[in-house]
Amino acid sequence: MLYFIVIVFGLLIGSFLNVCIFRIPEGVSIVTPSSKCPSCGTPIKFYDNIPVISYLLLMGKCRQCRAKVSARYPFVEFLNAALYAVVLNRFGIDPPWVLFTYLVFTSVLIVIFFIDLDHQIIPNGITYPGIPIAVALGATILPDPFFRLVPMGHEAALIGLIGGGGFFYLVAVAGKVIFKKDAMGGGDIKMMAMVGGLLGWKGVILTTFAGSLLGSIVGVTLIRLKGREWGSKIAFGPFLALGALISMLWGEEILRWYLY
Ligand SMILES: [Zn+2]
Repeated sequence: MLYFIVIVFGLLIGSFLNVCIFRIPEGVSIVTPSSKCPSCGTPIKFYDNIPVISYLLLMGKCRQCRAKVSARYPFVEFLNAALYAVVLNRFGIDPPWVLFTYLVFTSVLIVIFFIDLDHQIIPNGITYPGIPIAVALGATILPDPFFRLVPMGHEAALIGLIGGGGFFYLVAVAGKVIFKKDAMGGGDIKMMAMVGGLLGWKGVILTTFAGSLLGSIVGVTLIRLKGREWGSKIAFGPFLALGALISMLWGEEILRWYLY
């Protein structure tokens, strides 16, 4: 029953995440007006806006103009719900605020993933409120993602905040000096300050490591398969988002596996 509630909640929030991914980079309000078909402009009826199900019933087309609807929309809804189930399985409902915080963080990472993939930006609208909230929660009520039975404490959260932001700032400066171009965006710096506040300094290290590993695997694959040039730009944010998710979910296991 609990899983059912969390999955339905995840689908509904997933639907809202689509709105965020679409509208935040455009600087449009995420609350009003209601969603329209991007092709014909017809407002989408509530019964055509049921996560995943409406897409399947309408076979991926707009009811009015039959224009194709991107499969991205049901995918994001499904992904958010599936990850909610994984987070619930990992952390349980006790205490509820830890579950709730990690669910919200998961959704924020999904939004960052797709916005950075589409636009190569991580909006300040996410990181500016995200950084203080992350460090406040990390310093007080959240457990250490690497030793989940003990609280993380304000020291680890603060070092994470400064370490995450500071390290990526240094990488950005070094990239500019050495390669004479922007290797690291300001969005990545702010995002990692947020991740550091929430997951602590160990989270920053694992996120950076996992993100770089995934980034190089995908980068090399793109160069091999699609003939992309070395040094061609791919956004780093989506990989950092994946790295942060892995750190939050399996940091403890990975650390134990690494140490023993
Ligand atoms: Zn339409």
